[in-house]
Amino acid sequence: MENQILPKRPYVVIAPFPFQGHISPMLQLATALHSRGFSIIIAHTIFNSPTPSNHPDFTFLPIPDNLPDHPDTSIEKRLDLVKTINTNCQEPLRESLAQFITQGDGNDRVACIIYDTIMYCSEAVAHHFKIPCINFRTVPASVALLYDSLPMLAAQGHIPYPNSKLEDLVPGFPALRFKDISTSDLGSFKDVLEDRIFTNASSKYSANIWNTVDHLEQTELTLFQKRYPLPFFSVGPLHMIAPSSSTSLREADSTCISWLDKQAPHSVIYVSVGSLAVLEKKVIHEMAWGLANSKQPFLWVIRTDLASESECNLLPDEFIQSVGERGCIVKWAPQSEVLAHSAVGGFWSHCGWNSTLESLSQGVPMICQPCNGDQYINARYLSHVWKLGLHFENALEKEPIKQAILRLMVDQEGKELRQNAIRMKENIRVSVSKGGSSYESMNALAELILSY
Ligand code: UDP
Repeated sequence: MENQILPKRPYVVIAPFPFQGHISPMLQLATALHSRGFSIIIAHTIFNSPTPSNHPDFTFLPIPDNLPDHPDTSIEKRLDLVKTINTNCQEPLRESLAQFITQGDGNDRVACIIYDTIMYCSEAVAHHFKIPCINFRTVPASVALLYDSLPMLAAQGHIPYPNSKLEDLVPGFPALRFKDISTSDLGSFKDVLEDRIFTNASSKYSANIWNTVDHLEQTELTLFQKRYPLPFFSVGPLHMIAPSSSTSLREADSTCISWLDKQAPHSVIYVSVGSLAVLEKKVIHEMAWGLANSKQPFLWVIRTDLASESECNLLPDEFIQSVGERGCIVKWAPQSEVLAHSAVGGFWSHCGWNSTLESLSQGVPMICQPCNGDQYINARYLSHVWKLGLHFENALEKEPIKQAILRLMVDQEGKELRQNAIRMKENIRVSVSKGGSSYESMNALAELILSY
């Protein structure tokens, strides 16, 4: 048979927000689209730039962001950072794209811009070039739906809510309590309500892409779809659809894998609070002693910027001596590889959405200790809807920490959670395989882009 020459597919511009948990799924989406024949442009800020040499098939378009070398990424300043990046990047993104288009040979058609919800300056740029834009959501549908409902809940007088209602369920959200709506750390409710970041104020995009799985959030996806009847594609978990080991902004310490190789199956608790959360030194000490006293082997990620106070010797010598070889501490782990390792039996996590998906995909049950924002909602779904984790809501002190570790790693309760997690892993495997919902959704997305 003659070799068929496939027609050249157009460019897709991918515009991620420059945080680890946002860049990774967008690079994975780019990989999935590239494998379906599209050419890829990654339009990225200078701050937290991904590494082009890890993705030789993509075109990287650096966007001057006019940020200081080390912008404040603390939770208190995060909303400001989002606004600054969008203000600073809109014009440079337009200029860089215009330059790319004029320098091409005329055959390099740009089909659309796929942008992170919080990289919303991309909408205006897409409109300038009269190309469609697609909203990529790095949060689950449950979170988007709740944030989108905040104005309605405020109009009905449900928020702001008094402390007496913390345990009450949010009307319309059977899984969530008022205390799970942790928007207070993002600004006052007034700021949140007025901000388009949390509501779906814009109707300037033509489709939604979700890094989630249909069977995980069927109700929430359907409700969102009813509210915003646009094409939508649930293509997650993207790290399963397009595995790519090179999306990390930090260098992972792989020595922890040889340490894991020496541990018994399901014996190790992996501890990480993601790329951004900051903890007080006294909390880190309580975690340390909770881990030490549990007598379980542990792998703990202590980022250089984890502690709120900079400190040379963050952990007490007595702790290091008491755990010896039973503990392995790294500055950054190859997390997907860690969670896939047979020695790992539990994940004590802040419940960022990527960490959640990575744990679900490997059948690893969790201790859910949210630190801020949407993590509270993820923790609630993990513990009360999917029943794959223990929601840690006690004071962060060594004794309750030790008890939670033992419940997960030793008790019957942990064994049941692991069984549920293993079932979840199988369901996810089916979703990302040929004929599965996420796999087919990715194909449908490719078809939509081709139709532009
Ligand atoms: N991660 C990693 N190594 C670490 C800690 C985290 O590779 O030591 C990755 C993790 O696999 C996930 C991302 O960093 O993909 C964190 O994203 P998530 O949404 O879980 O949390 P965030 O950092 O946004 O709070």
